[in-house]
Parts: sequence; C-alpha cells; structure tokens
Amino acid sequence: MKFFGAHVSAGGGVENAPANAAAIGATAFALFTKNQRQWSAPPLTEEQCERFRDRCAEYGYTPAQILPHDSYLINLGHPEQEALERSRESFIGEMQRCQALGLDRLNFHPGSHLGKITSLMSLDRIAESINMALDRTSGVTAVIENTAGQGSNLGFAWEHIAHIIDRVEDKSRVGFCIDTCHSFAAGHDLRTEDDCRRTFGEIDRVIGLKYLRGMHLNDAMKPLGSHVDRHAPLGEGHIGWECFRFIARSPIFENIPIILETPDEERWPQEIARLKEMAAE
Ligand SMILES: [Zn+2]
Ligand SMILES: [Zn+2]
Repeated sequence: MKFFGAHVSAGGGVENAPANAAAIGATAFALFTKNQRQWSAPPLTEEQCERFRDRCAEYGYTPAQILPHDSYLINLGHPEQEALERSRESFIGEMQRCQALGLDRLNFHPGSHLGKITSLMSLDRIAESINMALDRTSGVTAVIENTAGQGSNLGFAWEHIAHIIDRVEDKSRVGFCIDTCHSFAAGHDLRTEDDCRRTFGEIDRVIGLKYLRGMHLNDAMKPLGSHVDRHAPLGEGHIGWECFRFIARSPIFENIPIILETPDEERWPQEIARLKEMAAE
C-alpha cells in the first residue's frame, strides 16, 4: 500500500489532526505534537491522547501512516553541553508524547555543529542523544531526516546518516526519512527516473533502505546543489514530476508515510489525488 498525505495542522489540539488529514483525501499525515517554535508545552492529557487514538481509528490511520515531526529548536549534536542537554530533554519529551499518542516514529533533523566542533564529533553526539532517548521510551523509532546542508546542518551526506545509525545501540528503533527537496539541494539528483534509481541505489548501499521509515515530497525552488532549503509545489520547481511519479510507483516506498510539505496547502488535495492516480497507473 502507498500512503500519501501532508503535514497538517494540529491547531486547537493534536486530536484535530486526523480530521484535517481526512478532509484533504490523505491516507497519511504528519503533525507537530507541540508548538514547533517553543521549548515548553503543556503535557498531553490522557483524554487528549485517547481522543487522538480514537479519531485515528475512526478515519483509518494506523501508526505506519503517521510521521510526527519534532521542534525546530532541538539540536542533538549541539557543541555546548548546556544547550545539548536542553535539546536532549526536549527530544525525550517529544518521544514520550509520541508514545502516549500510540505513535511509533518521530522524524527529526539530525543537528548542527555550529562551526564549534568537527562534523564527526557532532554526529557522535547525535547518536548518543538517540541512545539516551531510546533508553527512556519504548515503541517509538527515531527517524533521521536528511537535510539540504544549509549552514552547519549535518545530514546532507548519506554517510552522516549511516554514521549515526551505526552508533545507535537498538537498530530496531532507528531509521531515516528522505526529503526530496533536501536531497536535491544537497546535490543528489532526482530529476529523471535514472537519477532516482541512481540516488536511491546509493542510499541503499550507504545507509540501507531497510531503515527507510518515511518520505517528504517537496519540489525544490533552488537548483541542484544549492544547499538552500526552499520547498516548491510538486512540478513547479527544479525537480519536476518524473521524480514524484517514480516514488508513487516504486515498491521501495510501500507502507510508509509519504508526506507533502509543499508551500501551498490549497493544492494538497490535488497533489495527493495526482500521486494516488500515478500509483494506480
Ligand atoms: Zn523536517
Ligand atoms: Zn522535510
């Protein structure tokens, strides 16, 4: 099965997300379980968690169709101890929220060295942060998202993700997510079917596609290798529809949430419908 959806609003409470996803014809969705630009959040109540789980069941969403995203403030590879600890606490909190909601994965950007430590040191910190979070939670997989490599962000090279996974103790609860815009911005081409085969072949060799737990589908506003993270609606950027057709049709992407983070939400119903059509071709 292919599951297509978008990063929908959880405004007014996480329990509202499933209906927002169903309203656009989505068979998958992403959400923030707290305000993504703030450190603190009121804890989820048992009642809220129950309502969320009930509505997921009502609209037919299983955990394999849902890809929560953590806060943008978290940096699990932070060079400074105090800030690193704050990020780790916050990340553990986010993993615990997912667990309480009955979700089985949490998507996050690996982290940044901020020019103060080496990439390798920062990558080791990220792996250690994941080990700590896995120790304090159960049933939730840490899903590392590849990045555009803007600034000092790590995760733009497949080797970065492989390095982190290699150092995570519980391999059954670590995985990764590929954002097509980030991949393209980082210099990994996806414009033609051949480019897609080559890029996903390389990902398989370096990381292993058995760890793939989700996809973010975005076209790219900037050219190949720009290292600029600017999303465009599908077919309106430098990547183009051939890539999205490949993903819609390839068996590699079965049974994982495939999520739009494209800028114009008005187009989500049409984008999802087109992906479903291509999958059925
Ligand atoms: Zn992201
Ligand atoms: Zn993304």
